[in-house]
Amino acid sequence: MDFTIPEEMILMKKSVREFVEEQVDPIAPEIEEKDEIPAWLLDKAKEMGLFGLSIPEEYGGAGLNMLGKCLIFEELGRTHGGFTTVLGAHNGIGTVGIVNLGTPEQKRRYLPSMASGEKIGAFALTEPNAGSDAANLRTTAVKKGDRYVLNGTKHFITNSVIGQVFTVMAVTDKSKGARGITSFIVEKSFPGFNVGTVEKKMGLRGAHTAELIFEDCEVPEENVLGKEGEGFINALKILTNGRVGIAARNLGACGKLLDLSIDYAKQRIQFGRPIAEFQAIQHMLAEMAMETEVARSMVYRVAWMVDQNMPVIKEAAMVKLFASETFGRVVDKALQIHGGMGYMREFPIERFYRDARINRIFEGTSEIQKNIIASSLLK
Ligand SMILES: Cc1cc2nc3c(=O)[nH]c(=O)nc-3n(C[C@H](O)[C@H](O)[C@H](O)COP(=O)(O)OP(=O)(O)OC[C@H]3O[C@@H](n4cnc5c(N)ncnc54)[C@H](O)[C@@H]3O)c2cc1C
Repeated sequence: MDFTIPEEMILMKKSVREFVEEQVDPIAPEIEEKDEIPAWLLDKAKEMGLFGLSIPEEYGGAGLNMLGKCLIFEELGRTHGGFTTVLGAHNGIGTVGIVNLGTPEQKRRYLPSMASGEKIGAFALTEPNAGSDAANLRTTAVKKGDRYVLNGTKHFITNSVIGQVFTVMAVTDKSKGARGITSFIVEKSFPGFNVGTVEKKMGLRGAHTAELIFEDCEVPEENVLGKEGEGFINALKILTNGRVGIAARNLGACGKLLDLSIDYAKQRIQFGRPIAEFQAIQHMLAEMAMETEVARSMVYRVAWMVDQNMPVIKEAAMVKLFASETFGRVVDKALQIHGGMGYMREFPIERFYRDARINRIFEGTSEIQKNIIASSLLK
């Protein structure tokens, strides 16, 4: 294992760090207030190539491997959680399926416009009755001539409002259970595709999560992603990759919270001296730094394993579980160090606190990650 970061990645990380500090952080309060990411900011991210991180260069992307993508996700994780989620979902579960499982024709058709950010990607597995029990889908896809007709409702889908290209899982043969699920590339412009209720959430403001309603939605047969009946396996592969990316974003958030806490502890005076001089504060900082470093080692190692084509189902579950729970512990300590100011909207800590919570739920809850780890150990 060699985690020496190549020069070009150091430069790319630096430019993303500057971008988030100079352009995203200052407007985070506005995103919170309006629950909207301004179009100019998304355009800026498009110009910087941040929508094509792991899309191969031949289709207009940056062609980063998993470690490269995680290094950039780490920088994005340092800023506004909604902004990071839009980019994270697109570069993760929104495009990974087409990149890894698409036919050459599907890649030619979809990837260039997704790499430029002209079309934003999303992933639609979850339904009202199929959350953790993700194989229990009710959305059906019935073959009629040269197309499939989709009917059903997905919910909690990230990027559903701004997204254009969706990886959708639907049941093609109910009698086969999980082996009767197929994945499709579905465009928002296809007839019968509707966006339903947009949820009011605790955090991740600006990253809209909504229902998708398919009413006799016609999908051409050439839009089957992978093989018929392999949709559930495809979903698990996409989610495995996505979990490593979430962990990298959580790692970035922990690094930012540590930096903010160190700065605050040095400048906040109580009892005539900076609170950084109190051992209670120092111990919190030490624990935050140690856990962040462990998360970093895990993220880089699992990303490296992905790049070696090694199986990572267990490791991806471990790193997602550890990094998301670390984020929760780190933000809690960051808020404690900031005292009452940490609770105020004036400081970013309360936003990170709300945004941290979802990471223990989406792309598989902490309990489901433990189930995956345990079943790998016991098989
Ligand atoms: C903001 C947000 C964005 C999302 N984005 C997307 C998206 O883009 N695409 C998509 O497809 N989905 C998305 N989701 C859905 C998300 O992946 C699910 O919410 C998640 O998988 C959990 O499902 P659930 O909410 O139905 O909870 P449930 O499955 O109902 O779980 C409830 C509780 O029971 C526990 N539980 C359930 N089964 C078990 C078990 N076998 N063992 C132990 N504990 C168990 C869970 O861990 C949890 O604590 C999103 C959700 C949110 C909130």
